[in-house]
Amino acid sequence: MYLLLTNDDGVQSAGLLALKRSLEEVAEVAVFAPDRNWSAAGHSRLLEEPLTVRTLRLADGSTVLVSNGTPSDCVALALMGLLPRRPDLVVSGINRGPNVGSDVTYSGTVAAAMEAVLFEVPAIAISLDGYENWDFSFAASFARRLVLEVLRRGLPPGVLLNVNVPNRPAGEIRGVAMTRLGRRIYRDEWELIAEEGEERRYRLGGPPPTGELLPGTDLAALAAGYISITPLHLDLTDHRFLEEMRTWEL
Ligand code: MN
Repeated sequence: MYLLLTNDDGVQSAGLLALKRSLEEVAEVAVFAPDRNWSAAGHSRLLEEPLTVRTLRLADGSTVLVSNGTPSDCVALALMGLLPRRPDLVVSGINRGPNVGSDVTYSGTVAAAMEAVLFEVPAIAISLDGYENWDFSFAASFARRLVLEVLRRGLPPGVLLNVNVPNRPAGEIRGVAMTRLGRRIYRDEWELIAEEGEERRYRLGGPPPTGELLPGTDLAALAAGYISITPLHLDLTDHRFLEEMRTWEL
C-alpha cells in the first residue's frame, strides 16, 4: 500500500506530520506538499512562474518533496511522474480548521483531493474543526481507519471523500455521520488598513463563519460532535435543473 500525502497549510504544518505518522503504521507514505500556506487557494495552479521542487527534512527526520506550487500543483507533479510509482490513495490534510458546506469551493485541502480524482486516483480530504488549539491526534488515528476502509471498498470514479473531525478528545466524539454539504454563512468584514493616494488596502477579517444546522448536513453533524464524511463528485452539473432548461425556448 502506497499513499501520497499533501495539504494546503504548508509542509511544516503539525496536521500533516500527525497524519504522516499515523498512516506510516499501515502503509508506505510519500509526502509532497507546498512550501507555504495556500489555505483558501481553491483548485488553482501556479502559471506565472516556474514550479520548483526540492527535498526537505521534516521534524521526524524523514525527507519529503516540497514545491512553491499550490496543493493541486503538488498532486499533479507527484502523479505526473515525480513519485517512484502511482499511489493507491491521496490523503490531503489534516487541515487547521473545518471545510464544510461551500468552504469546499475555497479549500486548497479539498482541491488537492480533486486533483487526485482527475488523475483517477481515489482521494480523501480531512480537516479538523475549530479555529485554535487544534489537537490532531484523534483525527490522525481516525484517518488511518478510514484509509483502510476506503482501500478495501474503493470509491466510484470522480468521487472524493471530504472528512471533518470535531476538535474534541476521543471520548467526546459521538460517532461518524455520512453527510451532505450544508450551507455556510460567512461573516467576512473588510478592514481598511491603509490609504495611499488613489489606492486603498483592505484586509479580510470578521468573525469565523457559522452555518445552517440542517439535518443530514456536515455542519449539523460536526456541531453535534460527529465526524462528518461527505462524498463529493467533480461533476458540478445540476442535473435536475438541466431537465427544466431543456424546455427553454431559445
Ligand atoms: Mn488550510
